[in-house]
Amino acid sequence: MNERTTKKVIIDAGHGGSDPGTSRNGIVEKDYNLLISKYINKRLNELGIDNKMVRTTDETLSPSDRVKRIKSLYEPGNNVILISNHLNSGGGDGAEIIYALRNNDKLSKLIESNMIKAGQNVRKYYQRRLPSNPSKDYYFIIRDTANNESILMEYAFVDSS
Ligand SMILES: [Zn+2]
Repeated sequence: MNERTTKKVIIDAGHGGSDPGTSRNGIVEKDYNLLISKYINKRLNELGIDNKMVRTTDETLSPSDRVKRIKSLYEPGNNVILISNHLNSGGGDGAEIIYALRNNDKLSKLIESNMIKAGQNVRKYYQRRLPSNPSKDYYFIIRDTANNESILMEYAFVDSS
């Protein structure tokens, strides 16, 4: 079996429950994150790729509960990719891909080229550092899931025209 077929994927729908994330023009981020996550889950199942979702309902999860659940989905040390799904706001346009300081940009580049092929523009892929400790990742979902290859997707801006 090659490396490719042994990868597992954890799909994280960002926010949920009492934390709606961002919203504009009737688009509530938590709901779209869940729709996107369910779509990815369906596609990966069709492709025969082992995957699990962090939440499947409109559920409130604290950062520590979310990380705990992620760690419970597959045994640590496995070849697991974590994709945390989000939408952006603030007046930009296009997708952003944030990858972990511990990982290389190979997966981000692959996602970028496939998104462009699918017709969505991509602003950038990058790493984001914690200002108070630049040796650490900015986002907890990346920082606190160190056993995984973790990326945070901002698929689009809810306020882009
Ligand atoms: Zn978000």
